[in-house]
Amino acid sequence: MKFINLTRRTEIGANSYYLEIAGHHLVLDCGMHPKNMGEDALPNFKLIAAQPLDAVLISHSHQDHIGTLPVLMRRQPKARVFMSEVTAEIGSTLLHNSVNVMTRQREEFGATLYPLFTHRETDRAADRWHPCPMRQCIAISGERATGRDVDALTFEFFDAGHVLGSSGILLRAEGRTIFYTGDVNFDDQTIAEAAIFPEDKIDILIMECTRGDHAQPATWTRAGEERRLAEAIEEAFRRGGCILLPVFALGKTQEILAMFYKFHRERSLPDFPIYIGGLSLKMTEIYDRRANTSRRQLPRLQLLNNLRPFVLNAETIHDSSVRAGRVHALSSGMMTPKTLSNIFARRIVENPRHSIFFVGYADPESPAGILRDSQPGGKISLDPDEPGQRVRCNIEQFQFSAHASRESLIAYAKKLSPKKIVLVHGDPPAVEWMRPTLTAELPDSEIIVPTPGVEIEL
Ligand SMILES: [Zn+2]
Repeated sequence: MKFINLTRRTEIGANSYYLEIAGHHLVLDCGMHPKNMGEDALPNFKLIAAQPLDAVLISHSHQDHIGTLPVLMRRQPKARVFMSEVTAEIGSTLLHNSVNVMTRQREEFGATLYPLFTHRETDRAADRWHPCPMRQCIAISGERATGRDVDALTFEFFDAGHVLGSSGILLRAEGRTIFYTGDVNFDDQTIAEAAIFPEDKIDILIMECTRGDHAQPATWTRAGEERRLAEAIEEAFRRGGCILLPVFALGKTQEILAMFYKFHRERSLPDFPIYIGGLSLKMTEIYDRRANTSRRQLPRLQLLNNLRPFVLNAETIHDSSVRAGRVHALSSGMMTPKTLSNIFARRIVENPRHSIFFVGYADPESPAGILRDSQPGGKISLDPDEPGQRVRCNIEQFQFSAHASRESLIAYAKKLSPKKIVLVHGDPPAVEWMRPTLTAELPDSEIIVPTPGVEIEL
């Protein structure tokens, strides 16, 4: 079995992995880099250009896992594309939004390669996807696998508890089992329920390790963190300011809205106006539409009906009123320049009455990471095209990550005790903690950090 890490660096970038098993050629995930532009935003597809693909399997619809799928499909027209049913619905919405973002970037940055694909191409690509039910063994031909397929390559999606539709992927071939976690959470969130992953024998585990550089404090509980957020909102309102929460449109927005619903229901906070962006609205519509049919908590909660958020867009964000008592849950989560959260942050960052609350993952070099780690009164630049600013607003951080804690990743790896563990989807400090820890805990397993672009034999 051959494996190539197509991500360009050891990092959480444009996630993509090539696998060769049982004479089949596959790609797991096909992301777009959240910070890089042009060719550098793509996985290193050149490495597999000469190799016709049989299939592409997508774990979930975050940009860094599905964002360049139409590009790969153009280059590999014969490859079948598989993903969970909900991931297909969300993925199509996300990719169309991405075309709009790239079209804007073409104007703003002179990115002549952009857009990397068009709306028409996205529609045509999505028509060719094979949406798959969870927990069904499927042959690589796309047919439901039967007993006769024991020697063939099959795959099966398992609920990963990360965002709606997210899955881990179990591959079986030649009597071996390979499990790719995708992005996973082993704990319940406010909406998403904890992953249900295979617990029997796995030969090779390909595991994400986003939170590998953070220890989970022993006292942390999600309920406690929700209470801390409610108190912080109350305090921020008392200060006479508004609040910005930079969030991902898919997952974090809906988790935060569900928390607000609980705060209202428990009367820990009075009603307050909530503002979200257009893509978050579309993603929330899918959460609401799928509420009764997806595996989740609060299955009867219709977020939009209950919370009635106001919607801001690229024009209205500039002159929407910055008024006390309002909460803005805006994407992007990393506050990429020109996105709603970045524009809004620049409007409030110098005013000590206002607050910015970080509630999820942010790359330390992204504007969100830089602001989160800044000193009060320090000077920062949130957008290279705009003047620098002093950080005077109130900044707080909460732990509502949609990713598994490193402790739960280690516990899962120990339960499976696979022959080999391939560590992916982690920045260098995360991987550097995970590798020695797993080596010490699982002395009989080989722990592999796959060098980008280098073929390895598993
Ligand atoms: Zn994700």
